[in-house]
Amino acid sequence: MLRRIFSPLILSVFLLSGVATAQDAKPARAKPKVIVVGVNGMELDIIRPLLLKGQLPNLASVVNRGAYGKLRTVPAPNCPRVYSTLFTSTAPEEHGVTGFLVGGITANTNMLKEEPIWSLLSAGQVTVGMANVPATFPVMPVNGYMISGMLTRGKNCEDGVLCAPKLSEVMGGDAVYPKSMQAELMKNVGDFYIDCERMPSAADLKGHELPVIDAWLSKVQTIRDQQNKLFDYLLSNHPTDFTFMVQSCEDRVGHWLYPISPFNVGYNASVNSARPEAFPNQYIAFDKVLGTILKHVDDETYLFIVSDHGIKPLREFEEKDPHAHMDHEKTTPVIAKHDFADGDDVPGSFFVMGPGIKHDFRVMGLAASVYDIAPTILRIYGIEQPKQMHGHALSEIFDKRESKTAVGN
Ligand SMILES: [Zn+2]
Repeated sequence: MLRRIFSPLILSVFLLSGVATAQDAKPARAKPKVIVVGVNGMELDIIRPLLLKGQLPNLASVVNRGAYGKLRTVPAPNCPRVYSTLFTSTAPEEHGVTGFLVGGITANTNMLKEEPIWSLLSAGQVTVGMANVPATFPVMPVNGYMISGMLTRGKNCEDGVLCAPKLSEVMGGDAVYPKSMQAELMKNVGDFYIDCERMPSAADLKGHELPVIDAWLSKVQTIRDQQNKLFDYLLSNHPTDFTFMVQSCEDRVGHWLYPISPFNVGYNASVNSARPEAFPNQYIAFDKVLGTILKHVDDETYLFIVSDHGIKPLREFEEKDPHAHMDHEKTTPVIAKHDFADGDDVPGSFFVMGPGIKHDFRVMGLAASVYDIAPTILRIYGIEQPKQMHGHALSEIFDKRESKTAVGN
């Protein structure tokens, strides 16, 4: 429904802006540059010790140069549900993407009932680039490009839930906008996986734990390497005012390889003592991807690193089904999760740096929420926050002396 309402509007704005630029002798003032890096399930309990040990040098450099804190999330958080709140600053019941499945159908962009940030920015003549952002399949028209992410359907991943089709294997909709960009990506980046690998089942693991774990982790690293190449290619060859890129393998690893102790629920020594470093290693690998992205960040660029939720070992004793959002057969030995009824059990996190952002500044408690990201970005671009958005721009992270020029220009 939304697509029908907004697409003609966006296209007409593009056309008008093209005419205006051609006839106007004065070049338009440059728009702020914002890069948002989303990490699915960034768990501060794991991140903080790694920062202390100096194992996340790129993230540490962002912490020193910016503001960070926990990000309050929605109840029963999962990726499509929270990202759609992040896009729209509305509640899941309002934007319509309430989970992986909505009414038995895999969540998709046709279900989105509130206007997302990429549409508002496009209408404001901000150029937009998006890659592997969850719940953006089929892709929507933007003033730039969009490559879908988690919930993209394709071969061996027919329902698109927690599995990974390659770009050439996508079915049931477009994974790339504009369509012409697909051939260019195949040529220059290769036939990359769009989401992270499906988790192995208990039957796959039994008696072959170590080789199955190692082969799976190796595939995860292949996917991350492809993503790193994709992000670097896009930032080098298709720079946009606003860029939003997301990684999702960290969360997937955490669900079954979180470094739990024997007292935790679901502990199985043959799986859980095999590679206790596997999950922390995901953030060390992410930090290298962040290093690639930081090469494209100058002093005038706002960088946001945001996570939709954390992930914790099983801990909610009221819960009946610990495998609630797992793979099809629901046999993966899941030992950590995030869709607890109380989202405050698994807050996300944010790290922001850029012109006028306070340095080495921590937002305490749960003062910032996933609802606040879109309003903060709109404020940087001087675009009025639509009435339906519940969040507020995070003015506390901006230096007061500079905030007049840093935001709302
Ligand atoms: Zn998850």
